[in-house]
Amino acid sequence: MCGIFGISGHEEAARLAYFGLYALQHRGQESAGIATWADGEIHSHVGMGLVPDVFTEEVLVHLPGDVSVGHVRYSTTGRPEPRNAQPLTVRMRGGMQLSLAHNGNLTNAAELRAELEDAGAIFQTTSDSEIFLHLISHCLKDMSLEEAILSACDRVEGAYCLMIQAGGKLIAVRDPHGFHPLVMGRLGDAWVFASESCAFDLLEAERLRGVRPGEMVVIEHGALEYRSFALRKSAPVRQCIFELVYFARPDSVIFGEDVYQCRKRMGLELVKEAPADVDCVIPFPDSGVYASLGVAQGAGVPYEHALIRNHYVGRTFIQPSQSMRQFSVRVKINPVHSMIEGKRLFVVDDSIVRGTTVRTRVAKLRDMGAKEVHFRVSCPPIRHGCFYGIDFPSTRELVAVQHGPEELAALLGLDSLHYLSLEGLKRSVSCPDQYCTACFDGCYPTPLPAVQDKYSLEYARK
Ligand code: 5GP
Ligand code: MG
Repeated sequence: MCGIFGISGHEEAARLAYFGLYALQHRGQESAGIATWADGEIHSHVGMGLVPDVFTEEVLVHLPGDVSVGHVRYSTTGRPEPRNAQPLTVRMRGGMQLSLAHNGNLTNAAELRAELEDAGAIFQTTSDSEIFLHLISHCLKDMSLEEAILSACDRVEGAYCLMIQAGGKLIAVRDPHGFHPLVMGRLGDAWVFASESCAFDLLEAERLRGVRPGEMVVIEHGALEYRSFALRKSAPVRQCIFELVYFARPDSVIFGEDVYQCRKRMGLELVKEAPADVDCVIPFPDSGVYASLGVAQGAGVPYEHALIRNHYVGRTFIQPSQSMRQFSVRVKINPVHSMIEGKRLFVVDDSIVRGTTVRTRVAKLRDMGAKEVHFRVSCPPIRHGCFYGIDFPSTRELVAVQHGPEELAALLGLDSLHYLSLEGLKRSVSCPDQYCTACFDGCYPTPLPAVQDKYSLEYARK
């Protein structure tokens, strides 16, 4: 998963990208980058780490121009290393410089890369995003940039939202299935694009609409109008429903859905499906908060914020020795004992993946004196891997593959465990037929990659 951003027509293009990426930081914390365009040249800075670590005042003043694209990365293909940080910037035929930022995962990346390498292409990164650069470059001989991008999109399969800038043009592309979100808006006379609308709120930009599945939007340098093109491949719309369950920020509007309201509706559906006699509802922070509000409303019981999260635990947290392993659990979350002891609880989280949260934290509430623990999960059991950009582990590590709900509840000493049904989840969104639900039901909207490992590209080459 990743976050992408683009702006055209604002003299503070780098600084606005910096703030935009800040708002998208939840979509990727591994690397960050911004590429701007001024006086016919691209200026770029990328680095490993969080947005404020990569960009200082000193760096930003060296990124002039009124066009920029930005990226925050969470690697799903390609290792977490500097050469894979985006935007990727290259010099193409005729000296044209181009920067590209990609969110999503291509499912035919290994085949395309092998084909391109057999024809002599030299790849600089191990990420699937670089494939676009080679495909575009191959077409530029006889085509315009726009046509070259459309032709590149004819070849790729899978999930891609792209922000591209070249020669002062800013171009946004969303794949025909529309797996991941990309919204467009205005900031005065400038055009702005971002993975999620929460970035617009920060900039006080106006959200116009989502870039449509299968659409390419082109902004000429200094233009007041945009041009819209249709990608040539058509496909049913299959937006990632897990964006609404977990990934997107609750203050965003994506896929035409208000994420906060959507999660609350999932909570309301949850209580309808599996009510219980409880004293209060406790969210598992932070991701369980919004569905919990719906659960509390539907059940007519108080919502209590009884699990307190330490917000200063970063990735640098030193792992304790084996004998102190419970430290790593306790340092992140601490319960308010008076709200747990003797209480019958609904505990709510958005999803169960490996089962670490429920196993190490939720099951412990009984030991702390909770009278009953009823665990509620606001999406169905995750039983299938994702090839479109959500970072789920291999199938055998998914706890729902190992244990059914009753078995898991018994193993963990929960009084009950209920996952929202797929029907209930679909009732929580406004266009239920336009979503990819492959992680729940295994119905993949594209052919699957030949090599299905996380680092499929690298493994495919070895
Ligand atoms: P588990 O503890 O079962 O392995 O994972 C479930 C928890 O991880 C939930 O609290 C959920 O909010 C969170 N989660 C779900 N999907 C992802 C993901 O793709 N990345 C990260 N970092 N957390 C996730
Ligand atoms: Mg969580």
